[in-house]
Amino acid sequence: MALIDLHAHFPMHTRFPPRVGSGGVAEGKKLEFWAANLLLNSAAGRPRVSLTEFEVGSPGGAGSVLYDPDDEFFRDATPRPEAFQNLLAQIDNVESEIAASHGAVQVAKNPAELSRLLGAEQRFLFHCMEGAFAFGGDPANVAVAAARGVAYVIVAHLFFRGVATCANAFPFLPDELFAALNPDQNDQTGLTPMGEEIVSEIFRNRMVVDVTHCTDRARGEIFRIARNFPGSPVISSHNGVRHESNYPLNLSDDAIRQIAGTGGVIGVILYPHWLRHPDEQIFGADGFPIVFKTIQHIADVAGFDHIAIGSDLDGFITPVKGCETYAQTPALVAAIQARFPKNADQILFGNALRVLNAGWKGV
Ligand SMILES: [Zn+2]
Repeated sequence: MALIDLHAHFPMHTRFPPRVGSGGVAEGKKLEFWAANLLLNSAAGRPRVSLTEFEVGSPGGAGSVLYDPDDEFFRDATPRPEAFQNLLAQIDNVESEIAASHGAVQVAKNPAELSRLLGAEQRFLFHCMEGAFAFGGDPANVAVAAARGVAYVIVAHLFFRGVATCANAFPFLPDELFAALNPDQNDQTGLTPMGEEIVSEIFRNRMVVDVTHCTDRARGEIFRIARNFPGSPVISSHNGVRHESNYPLNLSDDAIRQIAGTGGVIGVILYPHWLRHPDEQIFGADGFPIVFKTIQHIADVAGFDHIAIGSDLDGFITPVKGCETYAQTPALVAAIQARFPKNADQILFGNALRVLNAGWKGV
């Protein structure tokens, strides 16, 4: 049985650190990134998302997240043009690694190709971006990314970088401390004028807009812009819900309804921290049952048409027990089939496929 995972960080391991742009990276940052990657993004010393794991895992594909931490950490709110060059270099990196798999894994660059690979039970990736700061402050770069086959763009991310205000996405970090770490953010902002322009360009170039990581205000402004682009679904590719895990990062019932209202989809994250309440974090429940609770809540609010999986594996998370590397995705698939027999196809790939067909033009 096939799976479309909307969000997995394959490029984290394509080259270290994940960039080949000009200028180089300070040794201290390399060390920090190496330590974080090793501690959080590996199981028994190996990446959780790699070509080897893909080949063992469920047939199907994953949104392969283009993200270079060096373009976001230790920066300020002024957009950096180099960030876009780094993004293009990362696309090159991923594609050359995939080419070296000799067809075992492929890159889907449009929805028709993706459908064909899914139907043939092949393994594939499709590009997506996490953080619109990677456009380097130039809305004209949106069309360039679209022409490289990027399927969706997460507008906000961890820190305010001149585009959109971000919800605290650091586990156990008090909101006051997050504010101190994110001094350029004014919570009254939402989207900046440049952010508004970028979001409109994403819609115009027929990539899908993703509201994960936005503050409520930034998310509300994206939905306002979405009204100018009827028929374009808005998604949250990897997230939890406040009803089960009450954090600002997670989706309110209102946000769930707004996403559903555009025909969009919510990819349920496979990270326990965003699937259980703050007072349940120590010795709390783990494993597939907490994934099911979030799925059930979205179904109760908006129906089964708006649920998918967005694992976030290797996105600096500790995954739920039972699906800790990509090789274990068959266990996740079997568990969802057993728990939601009538809706498993929709959750595992059908809804994601519908949304990508509706909102992504591709090349
Ligand atoms: Zn994320």
